[in-house]
Amino acid sequence: MKNEQQKHIRVLADQVINKIAAGEVVENPASVIKELVENALDARASTIDIEITAGGKRLIAVSDNGLGMDRNDALLSIERHATSKIRDVEDIERIGTLGFRGEALAAISSVSRFALRTRRASDLAGTELLMAGGKMQEVREAGCPPGTTVEVRNLFFNVPARRKFLRSEQTECARVRQVFMMYALANPAVGMRLKIDGRTLHNLPANAAGKDRLLELFRSIPKDALRPVAYTSPDIKVSGFAALPSLSRSDRSEQCIFINCRPAWAPVLSGAISEGYHSLLPRNRHPVLFLFIGIAPELVDVNVHPAKKEVRFHSPGAVRAAVAQAIRTALQNTAARSIFAPNPPGGDLQMPPPRSGSAAPTGLFTYGGSAFKKRPAPASDAAPLLPGAAGTAAAPAANAGKPWNWCRVIGQIGNLYVVLETEDGLVLMDQHAAHERVLFEKYTAAISGRAVESQALLAAETVVLTPADALNLRKSLAALKQAGFGIHEFGQDTFLVDALPACLGDISAGRLVAEIAPALAEGAGSVELIMEQIAKAACHAAVKARARLTESEIGRLITDLEKAEMPYTCPHGRPVIIHFSFQDLARKFGRSAPRAESGANARG
Ligand code: ADP
Ligand code: MG
Repeated sequence: MKNEQQKHIRVLADQVINKIAAGEVVENPASVIKELVENALDARASTIDIEITAGGKRLIAVSDNGLGMDRNDALLSIERHATSKIRDVEDIERIGTLGFRGEALAAISSVSRFALRTRRASDLAGTELLMAGGKMQEVREAGCPPGTTVEVRNLFFNVPARRKFLRSEQTECARVRQVFMMYALANPAVGMRLKIDGRTLHNLPANAAGKDRLLELFRSIPKDALRPVAYTSPDIKVSGFAALPSLSRSDRSEQCIFINCRPAWAPVLSGAISEGYHSLLPRNRHPVLFLFIGIAPELVDVNVHPAKKEVRFHSPGAVRAAVAQAIRTALQNTAARSIFAPNPPGGDLQMPPPRSGSAAPTGLFTYGGSAFKKRPAPASDAAPLLPGAAGTAAAPAANAGKPWNWCRVIGQIGNLYVVLETEDGLVLMDQHAAHERVLFEKYTAAISGRAVESQALLAAETVVLTPADALNLRKSLAALKQAGFGIHEFGQDTFLVDALPACLGDISAGRLVAEIAPALAEGAGSVELIMEQIAKAACHAAVKARARLTESEIGRLITDLEKAEMPYTCPHGRPVIIHFSFQDLARKFGRSAPRAESGANARG
């Protein structure tokens, strides 16, 4: 019997085909909402209302005030491969709408009890379709507002196997909310409402600014932790917001990436993001990131995945470079001092004016700008404490990347931390982390300039590695040579080190190479990543944690750090400085708004 059945080929009925296809497009209530919201957006709706009950298992309803359909189109819309969005093969090469496959309504209506009500603004009456499990039950004229409402009840009622795969109401709700947030984020111009079991969870006004919409959706993100991203080249535009490294997460749940306004992902992006944040985050931490990548439709293929979650770029390398650069620029162009200040600048990026006169600090030394100046105590009466333009209104912008305009060394504590007074508070600097950051940047700058000076060792050292590490090292010998290392195979997983990059100074070559070897595996394939691993390990080996620093060593460290590109974290992502603003101190001491007061005095 079974064999007999297999011998005969039959073309499947449409209903069966739709049900099979539904497996790809309709996974759960969230995927239904995704398709319906995309349709509403393609129909140019300016408000979209979404309602679910019982996690979407009982009801999913999406209403829009978009273009609507006439009766014929409504009847066609639920046919498979019926779409108004593309006409011919060429159109597939440049998709400008969210939908184009003409599958969603056919698929959804084949696995639910389905109602569609729709009217064009120019028509007197609307149309209502009622279907069950893909069978049309009723088509009638209906009074309804312009736009379209789709109601999906009892999803998968006729596919028990799929219904069993739906998760708990809570889980399905969470997925729905996630989808809602993504589309709401990508479409701030559209008013969007989400109602769950009769309760309004979000009611987002139309025409919102992107950042306002974002902060309303992600209430846990402090507004001054976000840096605007704005990168444009002839082929690609990257915009959105990148959060400061201090806001990192253990997963990617707060990374929202949109490609031509479609929530989407491409494998090349993870590399681009780590490159953008490189050396700012500890391993296994993920940045909070909202990125909109705009690219000519013909340079991206969205027709890779039925739900269009993954796309392919025609030149992934260019996208990678653009995204990494966009992130890096966003993070650099910041008064990044706010990393450690809980309530800093926000609107007022201007620094409070320096205090002078009797309030002038009279400590050991002050350093300002990149010109390291030693200032003997006591400070003379009204003499300005800071050199150069620091403290004037223009200074903050000019010095945006610097941790301070001037600082005064109070001293060193625990042989670990340097204590500083700066123009707007107190700073604790981890000398080890600072030293690592400085070395790291010196070293990477040298490598990228291909000008690593190599220094021969007085006595060559041998290192014995594990077989795995030896393999890593062997594969990277050329890169290591370029980076200033003299390393030679000595047989049986043993290596001879006879030269090191000169900028590393006096460190144990054996220890350094042993430390680098395991890290090299991570950089496999990319010279830059190999370099980064070398640099990180080199810093580690080069810096001694606990040491009494002399005055001049402290001064050197401070001026070097001021010049660093990313002075706020060490290459392994730990903070270099912790900042307590005068505001923070005032709050802790129960004083009221002392900065505003002193600022007002100084201005008035
Ligand atoms: P696709 O979106 O890929 O074209 P769908 O099955 O989602 O396929 O929709 C089929 C067609 O129905 C669309 O091309 C569009 O013309 C019409 N349509 C669907 N939803 C709406 C809506 N909310 N407003 C207006 N037209 C719609
Ligand atoms: Mg669609």
